Amino acid sequence: MDHFLYRDGILHAEDVPLPQIAAAVGTPFYCYSTATLTRHFKLFDEALDGMDHLVCYAMKSNSNQAVIKTLADLGAGMDVVSGGEYARARAAGVPGDRIVFSGVGKTREEMRMALTGGVRQFNIESEPEMEALNQVALSLGLVAPITVRVNPDVDAKTHEKIATGKSENKFGIPIARAREVYAHAAALPGLKVIGIDVHIGSQLTELGPFEQAYLKVADLTRALRADGHDIRRLDLGGGLGIPYERSNSAPPLPVEYGALIKRTVGDLGCEIEIEPGRLISGNAGVMVSDVIYVKSGEGRNFLILDAAMNDLIRPAMYGAYHDIIPVIEPAPGAEQTPYDIVGPVCESGDTFTKQRDMPPLAAGDMVAFRSAGAYGAVMSSEYNTRPLIPEVLVHGDQFAVIRARPTFDEMINRDTIPAWL
Ligand SMILES: *Cc1c(COP(=O)(O)O)cnc(C)c1O
Repeated sequence: MDHFLYRDGILHAEDVPLPQIAAAVGTPFYCYSTATLTRHFKLFDEALDGMDHLVCYAMKSNSNQAVIKTLADLGAGMDVVSGGEYARARAAGVPGDRIVFSGVGKTREEMRMALTGGVRQFNIESEPEMEALNQVALSLGLVAPITVRVNPDVDAKTHEKIATGKSENKFGIPIARAREVYAHAAALPGLKVIGIDVHIGSQLTELGPFEQAYLKVADLTRALRADGHDIRRLDLGGGLGIPYERSNSAPPLPVEYGALIKRTVGDLGCEIEIEPGRLISGNAGVMVSDVIYVKSGEGRNFLILDAAMNDLIRPAMYGAYHDIIPVIEPAPGAEQTPYDIVGPVCESGDTFTKQRDMPPLAAGDMVAFRSAGAYGAVMSSEYNTRPLIPEVLVHGDQFAVIRARPTFDEMINRDTIPAWL
C-alpha cells in the first residue's frame, strides 16, 4: 500500500496534487511520501516485535538526507556501504551505534572514519578485509566489532545482477569455510566477533530462499558457539521484493517475513538486524515526467518523455518494469493503445518500456512512474548534461524540495579548465 492515489481525478501524493508540485519545481521530478516511508518501516519493526531487533534501513536504495532523517527519527538504524553513506547517516543525526557498515571492498580510510566516528559493527566480507580492519583498529587503539558475511550458496531466484548469495557471486565467504574464518578472526586482537551476517540478494519475491539461508545461519550459529565464539547478533540482510507490477504480483509481506525469522532463528537468543532498502523506499516514491511529443513511427507509436535513462536507469539496466500512469485519471473504460515510452537520450537503451497499453495521452500531459523511490534518484546521472532531477518530500498537505535541480552553470562550473588551455 502507498499514498499515491487519485483524488477527484488527479494523482496525489498524500494530500498534495502532483500538478501542484510540477508547477513549483518543473518536470521531471521524484516525489516521496513520508506516510509510506513511515508505514513500511513500521511494518518491519512490528514484524520483529517480541525479538530484540534493529531495522537498519539500506541507505543505498535512497540516501537523501530528508529520507534518512525521517526513518532515523522513527528509530531506524542504517546499513551503509561506503564512507559517503556513513557521512550522510552521521550528517542526518544517526548515532554511530545504529550504523552497520556493509560492503565488499571497504577501504582503510572508510574503516578509520567509521571506527573513530562510531559504528555498530562491520560486516566483513573476506579475510584480507579482516586483516586490514584489524590493523586499522590496532593503529587507533580500538577494537572493531564484526560479523562475517557468509555466502550460503542459495539461489535467490531474482535478477542475476542483484543476486548475491550464490557461491559464484563476489559476496561474503563460503559458508563451508566459516568456522576456519571465524577462528582466524578470533585470533586478531583488533577485532571482536559478535555475530553472523548474510544477504542473499534484492527483489526476492518468495520466502523459500530466505528460509534456506536462515536455516544455514542457525546451524552455523550453533557450530560457532560450540567453537567458543560469542555469537549474539544475526544480521539477516535485506532483499524483500515489492510489487512493481500491481496487476499480477504479490510478494510476501513483512509480517510473513518476520514470522519466518522467528521460526528459523528465533530460538537462538540473538539480537536480530535486518537491512531492508527497497521495501521501505520503493513504493514511497514516484517519478513524474511530462510527455514532450507523441510520435508516430513505422508500425509503432512513441511517447517521448522529458525523463530519461539517466534519471531512472532501472529499465535500461535490469529490464525492470515500472507501472506508468497518467497524472490526470483517464475516463473509466478509456481506450488503450500500445506505445513505446522513451526518453530523449541518444541511445536506443533509453527506452522505459515497449508496446505498453496506455490510455489516450497528448503532449503536455504528465505521467507518473510508480515504485520509483528505491534505486531511482540514487542511480541517476547527468549523462547528456541533463541536470539531476529534483527530489520532493511530501508530508500530509506540505511538500518540500529536498534536493534542488542544479542549474546549467552549477553543472558546468564543477569542471575545471587546466592552466595550459
Ligand atoms: C542492497 C543491500 C541491501 C538492501 O537490499 P534491498 O533489496 O533494497 O532490501 C541490504 N544489505 C546489503 C548488504 C545490501 O547490499
